[in-house]
Order: sequence, then C-alpha cells, then structure tokens
Amino acid sequence: MGVPTETVYGLAADALDAEACAGIYRAKGRPPTDPLIVHVLSAREAEKIAHLNPAARRLAAAFWPGPLTLVLEKRVGVPDIVTAGLGSVAVRVPAHALFRRLLRVTGRPLAAPSANPFGYVSPTTAEHVRVGLGERIGHILDGGACSVGLESTIVDVRDPARPRLLRPGAITREQVEQVLRRKVGSGRTAGSARKAQLAPGMLKRHYSPRTPVTLHERLSAKAVTTGGKKDAWVFAARPKGVTGDNIFWLDPRGDLRGAARRLFALLRRLDNAGHTRIHLEKIPDHAGLAEALNDRMARAAARG
Ligand code: AMP
Ligand code: MG
Repeated sequence: MGVPTETVYGLAADALDAEACAGIYRAKGRPPTDPLIVHVLSAREAEKIAHLNPAARRLAAAFWPGPLTLVLEKRVGVPDIVTAGLGSVAVRVPAHALFRRLLRVTGRPLAAPSANPFGYVSPTTAEHVRVGLGERIGHILDGGACSVGLESTIVDVRDPARPRLLRPGAITREQVEQVLRRKVGSGRTAGSARKAQLAPGMLKRHYSPRTPVTLHERLSAKAVTTGGKKDAWVFAARPKGVTGDNIFWLDPRGDLRGAARRLFALLRRLDNAGHTRIHLEKIPDHAGLAEALNDRMARAAARG
C-alpha cells in the first residue's frame, strides 16, 4: 500500500511478514541487498525490534516523531529480508497523522521504502506514486503533498562513540551533533565492507530523472545562453534579470525548506517535459538542510 509520510511517500508492508516485504522488493524492482526502514509509533515500540543505547534514546527523544532514521542492533524476529541479512535494523517514528493512524490500526511495525521504481526520483504526492507504481500496488492513501519532501536523515548509532550520518536529511548533521555533543562522521560504518551496506541511500547515482542532469556551482544569466534551446535551468532562488519558459527555481527566496519540498516534484515535471538536459544550481552553502539538498542533486546528476 502506498502511504504518505512527512518525508516522501512510502510503500508499506508488515515488517514482521517476510512474504509481504518480498512484495515491496518485487513492486519496486529493488535489489535484495538494500535494507528497508521499519516505521513504528514510538520509541517504546522501537525497543521491540531494536536495541536502543543511550545515544539512540537521546536522538529519539529529540527528533521522534520526525524525519530521522536510526540504524540500531536488531532484535530477533525481524526478518532477514527487511535488513538484507544485516545484524542491524533501520527504525523511524514518523510524524504524518495518516501514516500514524495506519500504524495504530494495523498494530504492526511497517517497513516502507520510498514508493517509486528503484533508482527513480522519490514520490512526494499520491499522484507520483500512482504514475510510478499504480499498476503494481492495490491501494494508495492520499495524505497530500509531503511537508519535508526529502528522504529521512539516517544516523548509525550502534557505536555511540562513533555516530555516522549515512544519509543527510531534514534533521541536519548540526542538530544531531548538538544532541549527541560530538562530531558525526559520514558514510559507511567502519569495518563494514558488506555488500548490503551499499544501499541506494548511499549509491552515487540514485533519485535520478531519465533526462541528463548537470550540477553547477553557480548559475548566471550568461550560463543560460550557453545551453541548448530545450535545456531547463533550475536556480536555487528566483534569478534577477533572467526570464524564459525554461527558467525555474527551487524557492522564490531561496528558502531551503521550500526548496526541499519542491525539488523532487520539479525534477519529475521537467523530466516529463521533453527537455534535453536539466541544469541544477547547488545551494550556496554546506551546512544545515543544504547538505541534504546538495546530496540529492549530486545523485540526480551522477552518471552510472
Ligand atoms: P528508503 O528507500 O528511502 O526507505 O531508504 C532505505 C535506506 O535505509 C537504505 O537504502 C539504506 O541506505 C538505509 N538502511 C536501511 N537499513 C539499514 C541498515 N540496517 N544499515 C544501514 N543502512 C540501512
Ligand atoms: Mg528509496
């Protein structure tokens, strides 16, 4: 079932039912090496499927319900298919009212990756889900457009002394560091050369439109004149003195929350509009939400 969350739309199934979870992989065309995030109603429910250490509890208290996923040691009973055979499980407590109702009604933890064919831009409306997976899934709950618009922040806190940001998101690195009172590393956890860790959130190319994408440090009126007639240009904020029906912006004032909400919907729209190339301007910052936005734009632009 397609379900709304505050991050992106998810494709949900009972996380304790291996056969139901196999259906998620089939519908998405997702490789079995790519583990799923399990959604529960509260930190207390999370304790039933994972071991929360004090660092995890602090993050849970600060950011749940919300767009933060924690990678934790799993408890027995979580099917291998959910964790791609890893000893860890990714858990999140979502804030979206409709998704929470579904969790309450079913009384089950729900595994829910983004509701899109594997590798494509994540869906932020029910219509995106219908277009991408409508023929493969029975039901879609329409909860309106996602308020965050980017996939959850993923933090591996199994070793509280060495927390790692596996995927940047709306809960920023700085926010996590403030709560943990220590620096947060990046990328794969030390010593884990396991294939299963090479998951989409961590693949170089992911969240990608079919149209070729070029990422630019800066866009200008001059840059726009150098491209082909059917190129689309996406500025971080509304540009002064540049107009045309191929000129777009993520947010009129360059507000990052607005940009996050619109990025995926805009990429999809441009992908369907017959442009020969999509040019994206990086957010002129590294901190805060800029890290997640630049990460997604870099993945959309990555080749192969
Ligand atoms: P999504 O498709 O947005 O639900 O993203 C799921 C992502 O969560 C995966 O692609 C991984 O990057 C990450 N993930 C899930 N479970 C684990 C785990 N046990 N260890 C590390 N990363 C995980
Ligand atoms: Mg995904």
